[in-house]
Amino acid sequence: MVKAIVGANWGDEGKGKITDMMAKEADIIVRFQGGANAGHTIINDYGKFALHTLPSGVFYSHTTSIIGNGVALNIPVLVEEIQSIVSRGVPKPKILVSNRAQIVMSYHVLFDQYEEERLGGKSFGSTKSGIAPFYSDKYAKIGFQVSELFDEETLKEKTERICEMKNVMLEHLYHKPLFKAEDLLKELLEYRDMIAPHVCDTSAYLWKAIKEGKNILLEGQLGSLKDPDHGIYPMVTSSSTLAAYGAIGAGIPPYEISKIITVCKAYSSAVGAGAFVSEIFDEEADELRRRGGDGGEFGATTGRPRRVGWFDAVASKYGCRMQGTTDVAFTVLDVLGYLDEIPVCVGYEIDGELTTEFPPTVKLAQAKPAFETLPGWKCDIRGIRKYEDLPENCRKYIEFIEEKIGFPITMVSNGPGRDDIIYR
Ligand code: GDP
Repeated sequence: MVKAIVGANWGDEGKGKITDMMAKEADIIVRFQGGANAGHTIINDYGKFALHTLPSGVFYSHTTSIIGNGVALNIPVLVEEIQSIVSRGVPKPKILVSNRAQIVMSYHVLFDQYEEERLGGKSFGSTKSGIAPFYSDKYAKIGFQVSELFDEETLKEKTERICEMKNVMLEHLYHKPLFKAEDLLKELLEYRDMIAPHVCDTSAYLWKAIKEGKNILLEGQLGSLKDPDHGIYPMVTSSSTLAAYGAIGAGIPPYEISKIITVCKAYSSAVGAGAFVSEIFDEEADELRRRGGDGGEFGATTGRPRRVGWFDAVASKYGCRMQGTTDVAFTVLDVLGYLDEIPVCVGYEIDGELTTEFPPTVKLAQAKPAFETLPGWKCDIRGIRKYEDLPENCRKYIEFIEEKIGFPITMVSNGPGRDDIIYR
């Protein structure tokens, strides 16, 4: 059985925690898109970890972790991440890397930085991990596939070709030092030696596992609103964040994904630029940011303060629909316990009309939030394990949101730990 765990919003919904929790019952956890640009924060018996590339199931010794073909594979980051968890007492995880994954080169990271510098104030708020230049090259068909690392002749020819192209940009657009083909080749050969023990045909491995009835989790990064097609383009990421892409990025049949658990946060947060209709500011925002997540709303990869806002039912309904949600995991609800009243964005006013459908970016920029306010519950709900034991106003908040988004909330997360979960 294959289940996908994906985000409904702008990322940072708590997918890492839900994956880590569900990995207990899983055999295989697969990353199918994205790269080292986003991070998951996980708290378990070994401590607190910020993972960027490794799937969130690496803490269990019974699971196999797979880096699928859809991932932007940063080899030194992956190897370092493995070493860092092992050095903190986690048993050495079993990690397989797709022979069809493509490699983030050091020049992708450089080009990301150069482009942000060039754009100045008009930048896209990139995490500068090379993700956009990486995916551009992948689709321009000048990327390096892991399988090519084992064919030195191909590498030689390709590094020369790539240098020619990149050096034009370096010289004329960015005015930066030029590349040498032999340096690129050297980098690739180092990567080959680092990654070789993990490489295999992961799609064949998964096919066999599916036939054997294994439990497989697909772990998404970011959320629906960062999807390049369905999100807030151009303030999006460069690979699809949707569960449907899990089939492609893992190399499995789409009909095998039978459960799609969409993680949806009890309020809104976003990193980077872009329209954010229910955003709040000043002291109101500072307080939510300080209390938010686990130890505040600051990016796991960048440490940047996240923008925060009230729950956005328009964006979340859309986000859940685009994922193909079967179950909603509603997270970080405990954080709202300090509020007397909780506004929820239930509609957007655009051109004088109220809508509950999420618009494309040009219209989104004009949207004004319409709020309904619900009473708060004014207590700490951490530690509660049964739905009935939640305060009445808290249940009302959950049920109100469930009705607005139109998908069943089957899990409520009321703390960062593995056991802070209420099943409905
Ligand atoms: P991801 O990228 O979707 O995995 O999300 P992040 O890991 O970036 O952000 C989620 C943050 O919220 C992390 O610091 C988690 O430890 C924390 N977290 C997850 N679920 C809960 C919850 O139910 N309550 C609280 N207070 N924190 C949570």
